[in-house]
Amino acid sequence: METKTVILFVTAALNLILSLIVYSRGGRNPITRSYAAAVLSVAAWAFGHGMYALADSQSSLFWFYFTYVAGAFIAYYFFNFARIFPNPNDTPSMLLPARLLSIGFPLLVFAGLLAPHILIKSFTRSGSGTQVVFVMPSYFFYSVGFSLLMGWGFFHLLIRYRESTGRQKMQIRYVVAGTGIAAAFGSYFNLWLPWMGDTSLMWLGPHFSLFMIGFISYAIVKHRLMDIRLILSRTIVYSLLLASTLVLYTMLILLAQQFFQDRTGYTTSLVIGSLLIALGFEPLKRLFQKTTEKVFFRGEMDPQRLLGELSETFSIVRDLNNLLKSTAQQLSNAFRTDHTILVALMDHGELSAAASGNRATPLPSFSIDLPLIKYYDSAAPGHYLKMPAKREILLQEELSENQHSSVLMDEGTRANLLSVMEQLQASVAVPIFTKDQFIGLILLGHKRSGDSFFPADLKLLEIVSQQAGVAIENACLYQTLQQQMEELKRSQTQQLIQSAKLASIGELATSVAHEINNPLTSILGFTTLLLDDMGDHDPHKKDLRIIESEALRSRDIVRNLLDFARKRGIKKEMADINQLIQKTLNLLRHQAEISNIVLKETYAADLPTIIVDADQLKQVFINLMKNAFDAMPKGGTLTVTTLAHGFDGIATQPVFGEKEHGIPRKIIEIRFQDTGEGIAKENIPKIFDSFFTTKEEVGTGLGLAVSYGIIERHGGRIEVFSDLGAGAEFVIKLPVKEEATLPRS
Ligand code: ADP
Repeated sequence: METKTVILFVTAALNLILSLIVYSRGGRNPITRSYAAAVLSVAAWAFGHGMYALADSQSSLFWFYFTYVAGAFIAYYFFNFARIFPNPNDTPSMLLPARLLSIGFPLLVFAGLLAPHILIKSFTRSGSGTQVVFVMPSYFFYSVGFSLLMGWGFFHLLIRYRESTGRQKMQIRYVVAGTGIAAAFGSYFNLWLPWMGDTSLMWLGPHFSLFMIGFISYAIVKHRLMDIRLILSRTIVYSLLLASTLVLYTMLILLAQQFFQDRTGYTTSLVIGSLLIALGFEPLKRLFQKTTEKVFFRGEMDPQRLLGELSETFSIVRDLNNLLKSTAQQLSNAFRTDHTILVALMDHGELSAAASGNRATPLPSFSIDLPLIKYYDSAAPGHYLKMPAKREILLQEELSENQHSSVLMDEGTRANLLSVMEQLQASVAVPIFTKDQFIGLILLGHKRSGDSFFPADLKLLEIVSQQAGVAIENACLYQTLQQQMEELKRSQTQQLIQSAKLASIGELATSVAHEINNPLTSILGFTTLLLDDMGDHDPHKKDLRIIESEALRSRDIVRNLLDFARKRGIKKEMADINQLIQKTLNLLRHQAEISNIVLKETYAADLPTIIVDADQLKQVFINLMKNAFDAMPKGGTLTVTTLAHGFDGIATQPVFGEKEHGIPRKIIEIRFQDTGEGIAKENIPKIFDSFFTTKEEVGTGLGLAVSYGIIERHGGRIEVFSDLGAGAEFVIKLPVKEEATLPRS
């Protein structure tokens, strides 16, 4: 078999493959059907040429006719395709001449088949040369009919081209370019040259269909021509194109060989042919590979790399926001989109969203009411069985062209979803589901290359969405855990801060107290000396007294501070509380007198002695009484009462000591009731806090805090009852321990 015959069959096979691909992927769409039929006719035409080359003189007329009929079908189907492309529902009605032509042409062709002499006057075949003499008017009609149909088709396409935009425009451009080159050369070699009497180059015609194969495959892969969501693997595209290129190259060699053979003889032409193969093939293949890579797979992402990177992110990044951000960024980089948004829907209906860094406008706020979110969310378990389609990836392009064949949705929903996607500048919306629960959304912007999202991209996005689902769920769990930890930490921290504050205050107090105590001792010592030396009428005596009393007051403050800071245990000794109070009061009687304060004392008769730290309790009593004095600057009454509860077999309600709840306990109660200014309601919860004071210049805010600590260390409790303007009552309750020991503080 001659090389040129072989390549005719290869061309036929390639066209057949394209036709099958288009037909099998295009479904019942009339556009894809007529296009597949046109390409099938090209395949038949090339096949006819091949068979014609092989045929003996008997069958060659048959094959000649075969190509002639196949050629007519090409024009017929191409015309039908071009008339309805790209939208069969929006096709202008055919003009009468076009209608006549589209019906008349095939009729004429069949008439030619039935009566061959209409078309061919004489047919002689000798060796490889064929001499066909056509009947002129018929052949003229055939050629003109063919050209008119094709021309009319192109005319339709060009009108559509002017009207359309975006992807559609690109699609038409490739159809016109590919089919145009094939049709122009095909007609030249197979119609017009024979018309002028040269039929020797008719075998060349079919090869130009390879241009069509190239352009159309490109448009299918890159622009989803005829809405064919073709998962064309690299290998299929590669092989189809490589075969086409090789066929064209071989054709060139054959032509060159023929050219040289005519001029220099057979041997030289053979040498030149071999040289061309040897020298030209490798560089051509490399050039081809490079161009294919550049044109078809330029910047195409590596799915494995993307999935690898993402799973690393998913395993490392725990924080939801960071997770969304990194994922969005990675998807943007991989798909080369202008931006990507990731939205996560959390348990309590809260939404969290993040966008990749290259987003131009700020991220809009997402709410559960956003139609897109609502749409997918309603696909949640209950509804899911009814509407499984709602889990589908949505493409803006499809929504706008109303082509979403697999998803049933009403017009309102479609328009709603489309407008949301347009607002968000999203080309693709990929829902994220975990365990039938809609938990997030991936919104990819437009590809910077202007390409559509390829079917393979959508497949990859489905996988990404599954992985992202698990990651988002984990991140949400992590976030909840984190929040709980935060709360725990916060409460712990507060306690820690409190004790740290106390500890540092304690340290500070101790060192300051020691530092101040020394000069204070000197001040007091020297003041006493000076006072002793001074005559009663010395004018400075009054000032010195003030120095003395202020220094004493300072010493009290220092002592209080030390008490506050000291974490010493309690000294245990048996004490009679009544006596202890009386001793303390004795210290203050004089001051009460000059302050116009009446002291009323009521002591419980048979108060048991208890084990206490007497010095510390004295300190408490002094603090409370001093506070009472301070609260009655114009005088008043301080009533001190001691009581015993739970003695004489009278069962009392447990007053304190949760450990012993329910068991009647014996307690001693000491009350200090004054008729002073009382305490404001809002201050009552604060008065036991250290450093809380309302005595601006003179208060330290430590007295009650220290007292509280001391009573607590005794296992007792201190309470306050007061109203502003109605005096205050401080009640101390101390437990009477049956055992003779006090717990260590
Ligand atoms: P300081 O006496 O140095 O202010 P305290 O801790 O002893 O510190 O008292 C804290 C605050 O409690 C006082 O500033 C005062 O406002 C209030 N307070 C204490 N005892 C009385 C009382 N008997 N009557 C009215 N207010 C009192």
